Amino acid sequence: MKKILFVTSEAHPLIKTGGLADVSGSLPKALIEMGVDVRLIMPNYQAIKTIGEIYYKSTVRVNNINAHILETRLPGTKVPVWLVDCPELFGYPGNPYVDEQGKPWVNNAERFAFFCRITVEVAMNRGYLEWTPDIIHCNDWQTGLVPALLSLEKHPRPATIFTIHNMAYQGLFSKETRVLLNLPSRLWSPNGIEFNGMLSFIKGGLAYADRITTVSPTYANEIQTADFGYGVEGLLSYRQKYLTGIVNGIDTDHWNPQADTNISACYDASTLHKKKLNKTALQIKYNLPVDNKTPIFVLISRLVEQKGIDILLECLPEMLTLPLQFLLLGKGDKLLEQKLSQFAKIHSEKMVINLGYDEAIAHQFEAGADIFLMPSRFEPCGLNQLYSQRYGTVPIVTRTGGLADTVVDTLPETIKNKTATGFVFKAPTTGSLMEAIKRALIVYEDSKNWKQLQINGMKKDYSWNRSAEEYLALYEQL
Ligand code: ADP
Repeated sequence: MKKILFVTSEAHPLIKTGGLADVSGSLPKALIEMGVDVRLIMPNYQAIKTIGEIYYKSTVRVNNINAHILETRLPGTKVPVWLVDCPELFGYPGNPYVDEQGKPWVNNAERFAFFCRITVEVAMNRGYLEWTPDIIHCNDWQTGLVPALLSLEKHPRPATIFTIHNMAYQGLFSKETRVLLNLPSRLWSPNGIEFNGMLSFIKGGLAYADRITTVSPTYANEIQTADFGYGVEGLLSYRQKYLTGIVNGIDTDHWNPQADTNISACYDASTLHKKKLNKTALQIKYNLPVDNKTPIFVLISRLVEQKGIDILLECLPEMLTLPLQFLLLGKGDKLLEQKLSQFAKIHSEKMVINLGYDEAIAHQFEAGADIFLMPSRFEPCGLNQLYSQRYGTVPIVTRTGGLADTVVDTLPETIKNKTATGFVFKAPTTGSLMEAIKRALIVYEDSKNWKQLQINGMKKDYSWNRSAEEYLALYEQL
């Protein structure tokens, strides 16, 4: 069995800003349960929440800066985690990527280039950790320089996989940054880490990794087109043979309506009637009229353009005339936050907005809601539509990326053959979204069909079992 070093900039429950953390927390866990020797390496941010013991392993030095490698476990798992400890670069409070104002930390290039270099030292056994990987599995731009730098190392060296969780974040920096970071000039070409005269971290992964994966088959096709490829669609088409899409699994222990300690009443497909206790709890908590018949719509998201929040905003005047209640949990763009808050203030009997990041509330929303809104412009995989299906909360999603791959639209034939799990609309426009909302409300009126939709979703297997097998097959190929 191959030895895998999983390289990531966030992992749940140590630190999380989005779906990457969910995957980094749950895929290694699934792999280790399948008997794979996997370890995780990530920066030791100040905000990391470790529990349990932490050991000092060694000190590695690059560019005259020391990093201490500390070992701990991913909480609740057997996965060893190596924390790259360098307070000078990672010892800031809060978010790993941005400051309080949402602006990227000014030295992000230096921070993640350092992280990549340390990872290469560890991978080449120059960190004296008595464990050398066969494969380095990198994730997103923060790890992009690892395949590039490793490509300059002599054999034997580990093979590399680069997984794209979101093409929209590329780690682009000025060309002077390359000199500042002392990156080898051999990597600096349009076929390497240069992108239109800038330094691109993500291209380090796309150009040099032995295999590229992304988090759904539809997104793997989309990113080879100009609409979704952010200018690197050509490179991705060129490397098509090495590019595959593997849908993310979810942590079915953590997202389990049968044993969720965050919610008022646990339930499963056979005790679905108990779900309404969670609905009532939400209505009481948020001062909404307590009424089981009125459907609760929820949205949990980073509030950014990608997620179609502006499209939703345009729908709100009409949406809020319909018989529904709407709860939103999110954080992000200040202007979007402001506009949403204004709506919630005017329509407080129907809409409540919670501007924050709260894991427990996310679980309560999933358990208590009837419908989950996800009008994303693009969505590499998306996790909330998976959590929603598992919680019997019917998702309304755009037909894009992983949403297209994991939600089956409700049509006469899919109702009949019991495959329907949600409502899928064609294009990220207000017209399409409104139409889907109205379609959902019509089906909601028919309690028998609605229950069937819920059960269809709840019965689907979104655990890591299948997807981890796909990664395993890929590891074995290398
Ligand atoms: P992305 O990675 O693009 O943000 P995903 O759907 O893949 O989107 O994953 C988002 C993850 O972050 C989910 O686990 C979701 O529940 C969580 N999340 C997003 N915003 C919030 C929030 N405000 N509070 C709690 N959890 C959130």
